[in-house]
Amino acid sequence: MTDGEILLALGERDLEIMRAERALDELPEKTAILKLRHRIAEIERAREQADAYCRKADSLVSRAQDEAASVQDKAASEQEKVLSGQVTNPKELQNLTREIAALERRRDALEHEALGLMEKAEAGRGQLAKVDAALAEGRSKEAALIERFKERGGQLQHETDRLRAERDALGKRLPADVLARYEAARASKHGIGVGRLANGVCSACRTQLPADRTQSLAQGPEIAECPNCRRVLVVGAEST
Ligand SMILES: [Zn+2]
Repeated sequence: MTDGEILLALGERDLEIMRAERALDELPEKTAILKLRHRIAEIERAREQADAYCRKADSLVSRAQDEAASVQDKAASEQEKVLSGQVTNPKELQNLTREIAALERRRDALEHEALGLMEKAEAGRGQLAKVDAALAEGRSKEAALIERFKERGGQLQHETDRLRAERDALGKRLPADVLARYEAARASKHGIGVGRLANGVCSACRTQLPADRTQSLAQGPEIAECPNCRRVLVVGAEST
């Protein structure tokens, strides 16, 4: 193979590598995984909220229950005073009885409040269970998608690795300055660094070159530069 032929083969491999990388990048599983991860993050936020709601409701329940218990203790101790017979003043007794009745009303109200809060906590836990189920489903879907992505991506990756090995081997067969010119053109021209001059047309930029330029290129070295796109131009026998 001439240097020009090696260059063209190298350009072919690089093109195929780009195609394989794009295919890898555009695997539908990849987009699906990204979308799903976004959704899972939303569910995780909803879970945090539901969990905070449950904990808040639980703490309000125990606060109301504690308060009801302390009011109950107070009422019981006042009741004891009444039953002890130590309080004999009728006015004082009447006050105590009123106070006990008020304490019992307060306790009833607190117990009622605690029950309402328990219902809320229960509803919160129901919500949390739903969120947890959605989260588990999302994660299992994600795992399946990752599995498929690995399988299809692995094939493409394998192909890319093979092409890369081939292009590296081709690159080693070229003189360093020719390879450097090719790499520079490839870097500045969207990955395509070489064209072939055929029938007066540069295969990279597909431009018909003026006849006199084609003529002088044909008489020059095998490896030239496209006067239009500035890529490395391989001038072969068929270009004349
Ligand atoms: Zn060109």
